[in-house]
Amino acid sequence: MAKEKRNREWIQDYFFLIVPKPLEDELLSSWLTRMAIKHRRVLSTFLSLFVRNNGHEISKIDIDFLYNEKFFDSLYRKSNLSKKEILSLSLRSEEGHLFTCNDCLYPPKQIRKLTDKRTHNGLMYCSKCLAEDSIPYFRKKWRYFFYNACPKHKIFLTDRCWRCYEKINFSQIKHFNEICTCPKCEKDLRENLTIPLQSNFDYGLKAIKWFEKGLNRGYFLIDKQKVKSLFIFESFTYLTFLLDRKEKLVLDKFPLINEYKDIYRSIQEHNLKKNLSIKKDFVLTAMVYYLFILYLKIN
Ligand SMILES: [Zn+2]
Ligand SMILES: [Zn+2]
Repeated sequence: MAKEKRNREWIQDYFFLIVPKPLEDELLSSWLTRMAIKHRRVLSTFLSLFVRNNGHEISKIDIDFLYNEKFFDSLYRKSNLSKKEILSLSLRSEEGHLFTCNDCLYPPKQIRKLTDKRTHNGLMYCSKCLAEDSIPYFRKKWRYFFYNACPKHKIFLTDRCWRCYEKINFSQIKHFNEICTCPKCEKDLRENLTIPLQSNFDYGLKAIKWFEKGLNRGYFLIDKQKVKSLFIFESFTYLTFLLDRKEKLVLDKFPLINEYKDIYRSIQEHNLKKNLSIKKDFVLTAMVYYLFILYLKIN
């Protein structure tokens, strides 16, 4: 026992042996999982050995939202990446642009919670993006509330394996598998059968691209004046709350009004809340976009 403890302490002082290059918009947990696989370890063991004794605990929490200076410090020391590069992988790098929080433990509304029993889980993916990647990895934007579908592949994101219905969970991925393998049934997530969105949903995809562009450049434009993206995303959260009026909603010219009402009908009649939640979030996002463009003339 004592010997094992010594060994662990020794490894914790060691640098990572192989450091994968962070990919564009990659999530911290995705990068760490890819690194754990390269070290032939599951994520929790890898973190325990190389980062902290409580790696098991860390792998159970939302690493992407965790703000812990010591944790970031050890990652940048051991990886030889800059502090800036490490922080850019964390969802915390969007603080001040997408959301604000005061030492909050859980993500604000703009970011999906990792586990949410009422709706879908927070870690979602586009199987076609994964299939096109030369190195498959998970994006930060796949956790943003407004990013419900992939504008490139025109499909809804999903939070689980379509064969065994298990949710995506990096901490379970075995060291000999890729990040895009279901830990439970070993199905390759890139091979999901996908159903393309019908063309009437194009308006919602346009909304996603618009929010994404504003977040990336940090501002939106009203009458050629720059408005901080944070202001837009905070109003977004408030507006989705106001607009979600179910059958009472009066917004007749909104291009997806029938789709919105259909979703509510199905939720009520068949109690399909969970299955339809991604669709509902998608339509609500499009609705906020509609109001911003129409009434506030924000661009
Ligand atoms: Zn995609
Ligand atoms: Zn599976």
